[in-house]
Amino acid sequence: MQYPEWIWHNGGIKPWAEATTHVMAHALHYGSSVFEGIRSYRTPDGPAIFRLSDHNRRLFASAKIHEIEIPYTLDQLNAACREVLHRNALGTAYLRPIAFRGLGGFGLSAETPVDVAVGAWNWGTYLGEGVLETGIDACVSSWQRFAPNTIPAGAKAGGNYLSGQLVAREARRLGFGEGIALASTGLLSEGAGENLFLVFDGALHTPPTSAALLDGITRHSLITLARADGIEVVERDLPREYLYLCDELFMCGTAAEITPIRSVDGRQVGAGKPGPVTRRLQALFFGLFDGSTPDRHGWLEPLSPPPSP
Ligand code: PMP
Repeated sequence: MQYPEWIWHNGGIKPWAEATTHVMAHALHYGSSVFEGIRSYRTPDGPAIFRLSDHNRRLFASAKIHEIEIPYTLDQLNAACREVLHRNALGTAYLRPIAFRGLGGFGLSAETPVDVAVGAWNWGTYLGEGVLETGIDACVSSWQRFAPNTIPAGAKAGGNYLSGQLVAREARRLGFGEGIALASTGLLSEGAGENLFLVFDGALHTPPTSAALLDGITRHSLITLARADGIEVVERDLPREYLYLCDELFMCGTAAEITPIRSVDGRQVGAGKPGPVTRRLQALFFGLFDGSTPDRHGWLEPLSPPPSP
């Protein structure tokens, strides 16, 4: 990986190589970190960060769940994200804010200092070159998501991603593009790092937030865009076999964007290629960045904020 030159760490910009932490940092041992994944895109009005404030709000929400006190404000974190892009001259990029329990205590309930960093780099299509057009072959994982009242799925916390790694690594080892996890109820939850949408008769169906999933910002954006476009959206419990029976299926997330799924567990989904509803949502979503979809909700936050009046 080609690392960018600058990173934001504990209050300021520093060279990438200097943003280090101690091997005895709490988060390294116990997974006590919360983080975000955010993308910036080039738009006709210059680079914009997609739902920057909503992502950083979710960072604070994840931190609240885990009682991690972030010693910065939302505005400071938004400014840090912008600064990292500016300093590295990045237009289209992936941003990674992270807050974690650092060095200063070993007990599980230790009050350690909280370290905060924001990195950014160029990250192409997450699930492989060309998959937004062709789709991927997915499988249902032998690993389930965490049961309710065990590890909160609604927090984007480092420790949660041991689950995602089991799901993703098993899928790759078996030759699939991505794994889909069931909740402890046996009903559909989400992909290793993506939310799921099924299409039946032109309507979108997606598991509810009670199905042990991360309430994705892309998921929310697509629900909003679809409804405004007259596409019905139903959030409901879905059994595994509906993956095989739906007309279309796709995954979404900041990294994966909108990735069609052409087969699950060796069974072809629909026509085995991206269908009309998936294509329409891709057009609406990516249209935000070329100006063909109006940004009705202020989701495109300019890299350089307008000067205050
Ligand atoms: N679920 C999980 C487990 C994820 O890691 C992600 C990526 N952050 C998503 C869903 C999608 O969330 P978002 O659209 O906010 O990136």
